[in-house]
Amino acid sequence: ESPAMVDAVVMFPSPAIGHFISMVELGKLILTFQPSLSIHILIVSAPYSAGSTASYIADVAATTPSISFHRLPTITLPSSTNTHYETLIFEVLRLSNPHVHQALLSISKTHKIKAFIMDFFCFFSLSIASQLNIPGYFFFTSGAGCLAASMYFPTLHQTTTKSFKDMNTFLKLPGLPPISSSNFSSAASDRNNKAYEYFLDMAYCFPKSAGVIVNTFAVLEARALKAISDGLCIPDSTTPPVYCTGPLIATNNQTDGDTECLNWLESQLSQSVIFLCFGSLGLFSMEQLREIASGLERSGQRFLWVVRNPPSDSQSLDISALPEPDLNSLLPDGFLDRTKEKGLVVKSWAPQVAVLNHKSVGGFVTHCGWNSVLEAVSAGVPMVAWPLYAEQKFNRLMLVEEMKIALPMKEDEKGFVTGLEVEKRVNELMQSDSGKSVRERTIAMKNAAKAALSEGGSSRAAMSRLVESWKH
Ligand code: UDP
Repeated sequence: ESPAMVDAVVMFPSPAIGHFISMVELGKLILTFQPSLSIHILIVSAPYSAGSTASYIADVAATTPSISFHRLPTITLPSSTNTHYETLIFEVLRLSNPHVHQALLSISKTHKIKAFIMDFFCFFSLSIASQLNIPGYFFFTSGAGCLAASMYFPTLHQTTTKSFKDMNTFLKLPGLPPISSSNFSSAASDRNNKAYEYFLDMAYCFPKSAGVIVNTFAVLEARALKAISDGLCIPDSTTPPVYCTGPLIATNNQTDGDTECLNWLESQLSQSVIFLCFGSLGLFSMEQLREIASGLERSGQRFLWVVRNPPSDSQSLDISALPEPDLNSLLPDGFLDRTKEKGLVVKSWAPQVAVLNHKSVGGFVTHCGWNSVLEAVSAGVPMVAWPLYAEQKFNRLMLVEEMKIALPMKEDEKGFVTGLEVEKRVNELMQSDSGKSVRERTIAMKNAAKAALSEGGSSRAAMSRLVESWKH
């Protein structure tokens, strides 16, 4: 080891936009604590397009020279592969392992790697870090509640031989409200799905890691964090140190999107607009889009709504490959005309962080992706929780029952939501007492988030503990 070697941290994010951006933001935060570090971010191409990070990457590369990006060779999956988002991502990351190994070896030639921080979906690479004697950390891009459940997963697995999807019961997990077995992600709900096995393997990796960094803050999820630190979530093994360093949110130019909507918001009254946006992968059938439209129209609320084309069988996982939606044919006859004074429909993608932070926005109908949740909390915008995929039903439960910063959207057993329900929930959030209490609670959490990130706050303290531990 030559004394001239620069200290480095290597980060391995999952390619989905929400996972990727929050990891890069973590890298930027680390640099504010130790500017002499060099940060290397490994990029894997996603098996489907989950939001474009190109302009974000270019922006970070231009503004933060200590961060460099390394693109790993593209993995091509066999076309017969199962189409759960989670399974596809897991496969790509698993098959990238030899390239990750190469990248770590090559960075080691000129750097002393102090830490290798993996997205939890990248757990396959923990063994490489161990082989190379590099401390391996996980970065958990969902909340501490979801982390508690993930850590407890092997224990749950041992208590039954059934898949969650066949249980129809409430489960009691440490530090969490009772969870309906139907609230687990569909991939983790079926023992016959490959992703189930991977989630289990991942959970067995937690005790072997040097620590888990979580994109949350202490006050938001105190009960789940206590259960974790008390060792209740990993009863049979060691609980690794947990560092809550969030909320980590994109500060660089996130994505292009349509900025015209920001001009429109300028002409609206303070907190008068409800924003509807469903993550990087949220798609609705035409029937569902029409129900949302009629619910919005009947509610009489002002709205800003991001609309995409419905999924089609041929490329149901690739949003960027979808053509621009033809709003006139998708939405009910005359809807755009009748609501032109009240609402604005944006095609495909909106600059969400900027929208949520606009003073005219007073509510958010969200799919409950964790980044969207943190962005809403940081902006002090209360939510209606309408989960669609991944761990989002679980997040709804946490938002509604535990954090009390959202009202639930209620769907039927097929996941369909009526226009009546949309109307009711939107009005409830914007006008009722329960909406008011959710708003007050969200603003309290916004202030708590700000405090956590300020001098002496819990997230700064956690970050500083982590960076200090690399100095020895
Ligand atoms: N996003 C956006 N505009 C859109 C849709 C999504 O800027 O029209 C951003 C959003 O701000 C968030 C990310 O994409 O940062 C989505 O991450 P999240 O964890 O909420 O959901 P996921 O896409 O992972 O399901």
